[in-house]
Amino acid sequence: MNESMTQAWPVSERARALHHQTLVWDAHSCLPIKAGVDISDLERHRASGIDYVSVNVGMDFNPLAQVTRVIATYRAWIAARPDKYVLAGTVGDVRRAKSAGKLAVSFDLEGSDMIDGDLDMLRLYRDLGVRQMHLAYNRDNAVGGGCHGADIPLSNFGRKVVAEINRLGILMDCSHTGHRTSLDVMAVSTKPVIFSHTCVRKLWDHPRNIWDDQIDACAKTGGVVGVTGIGIFLGADDASTETMMRHVDYLVQRIGAEHVGIGLDFVFRRGADEYPEGMDFALWWPPQHRYVGRSNFVEPERMPLITEAMIKLGYPDKAIRGILGENFLRVAAETWSTN
Ligand SMILES: [Zn+2]
Repeated sequence: MNESMTQAWPVSERARALHHQTLVWDAHSCLPIKAGVDISDLERHRASGIDYVSVNVGMDFNPLAQVTRVIATYRAWIAARPDKYVLAGTVGDVRRAKSAGKLAVSFDLEGSDMIDGDLDMLRLYRDLGVRQMHLAYNRDNAVGGGCHGADIPLSNFGRKVVAEINRLGILMDCSHTGHRTSLDVMAVSTKPVIFSHTCVRKLWDHPRNIWDDQIDACAKTGGVVGVTGIGIFLGADDASTETMMRHVDYLVQRIGAEHVGIGLDFVFRRGADEYPEGMDFALWWPPQHRYVGRSNFVEPERMPLITEAMIKLGYPDKAIRGILGENFLRVAAETWSTN
């Protein structure tokens, strides 16, 4: 545990010990999508007692060439620092990283346009370190619907994409996906389906959040719903620990603690991404949904305080350990493979 962290967010001895023992999993955070960038901000996760983080390497608007360059940058940076970081391909890698005090990292894709209509690209991304992906980033595409789209179903090609994601052992994620497509994915997937980073729509009506039928369907697949720390999804740009816990507790009461996790969606450096020329920001992040000027996030340093908050809610240690990371670890163990 890091001294500066415990000073910034004082927590009880019990919370500190529980947090330290537990394998802590952040199902999604965001480094700058830019070739050649320095990603030493990852140290904030490591110093906060987080053992694994999935970072995105591209969204639907990022061209294939950029996505591959970003993967090259992240891979090289991690490979140059084997004393502190591991590119994790298996749950064994994640467990070994924790034992050695290292941060395990793998990649996720936010959308599927970067496969360019070619199922074989999924294997390539998997082999380059992608362990999680969802199908559409906010807008509809050839695979299915985005959460700010027209609520279209999963396409025939989309069914093939889901089958290949299942076969290759990549975590099937439904974050950013439209309502109908997400239900279709959960009906056809042969592996547990996750929402790596979302919130409860009944508590805060934002289209990025999910309704009870999606929550229930996710649990039925054996999956996990990861709660984000983004203020505009949690509430009125409210990233307080209390508000985040309201979303966590809603899910715990509805589907059981074994189906709940955390996907902070922390953006380490806002405004550092490189965007394609002429990109229509209002299309991808409609201003009426408050994306403009969003400001509050739950920081990685606050994770021990989340542990403390769950102790205060009276959750048993087993439930807390599950939410902090062991639930996502379980689903990864059932899913990740290198076939
Ligand atoms: Zn996202």
